[in-house]
Amino acid sequence: MSNTDFALAVEDLTVSFDGFKAINDLTLYVDRNELRVIIGPNGAGKTTLLDLICGKTRASHGSIKFKNQEMTRMSEHRIVRAGIGRKFQTPSIYENLSVFKNLEVSFPRGRSVFGALAFRCDAEVRDRVQAVADEIGLGTVLETEAGLLSHGQKQWLEIGMLLMQEPELLMLDEPIAGMSVRERELTGELLQRICKGRSVIVIEHDMDFVKRIAHKVTVMHQGKILAEGSMDQVQNDPKVIDVYLGH
Ligand code: ADP
Ligand code: MG
Repeated sequence: MSNTDFALAVEDLTVSFDGFKAINDLTLYVDRNELRVIIGPNGAGKTTLLDLICGKTRASHGSIKFKNQEMTRMSEHRIVRAGIGRKFQTPSIYENLSVFKNLEVSFPRGRSVFGALAFRCDAEVRDRVQAVADEIGLGTVLETEAGLLSHGQKQWLEIGMLLMQEPELLMLDEPIAGMSVRERELTGELLQRICKGRSVIVIEHDMDFVKRIAHKVTVMHQGKILAEGSMDQVQNDPKVIDVYLGH
């Protein structure tokens, strides 16, 4: 397999903040249909890596290729249009709008195949909203005001808002923080479903959850990759136990 076959190819990536290398010569490949989990101690650079991929932070050096296209000099909104969606830790939903409206406003404009035929366009959007709402388990609460949803449901709604744009790479930073046991289970199932046909990168601390969802685990430490492989492999890696799992 050559490097050009990966959905995402991060190579020799470095970012320094006043001389401190938060990401230090990091290389990482993610496949299509893959659910990758990134773990590592606080300050390892996990969030910074996502910031770099989505264009929020600019690399000092190195390359980020998505479907063979260089992302490091692209604007944030062009990166979104290229198919990369990113969920931040705090949800950014519109609390006073319904679930339906939250999803509807996330539909990418100007992409309708029906052009000026407004009624066809409306139907297309409605169908897509319903499909996404069903996918995230909110299909029966479309008219509910988003502010009234449970914490977990709000997180799913934000995932749904990203899915409206049909991203080919979806990145989630600690998606189950604050969720109930049942919500965690459902989120695990949701992530398993939505990685089909795209790539998903999840940053997570909860090892039981990681075990349940990860296809492959990348362990970061001090801006570098400490280990990578199956959950079993990284869990039994002495380096990983030393800097992360042992504590
Ligand atoms: P993680 O998500 O793995 O806990 P982060 O990516 O948030 O780690 O942070 C990695 C390191 O980079 C930390 O030491 C953090 O303080 C530093 N850092 C992150 N963003 C910035 C920034 N914009 N300016 C300066 N330092 C930063
Ligand atoms: Mg973080």
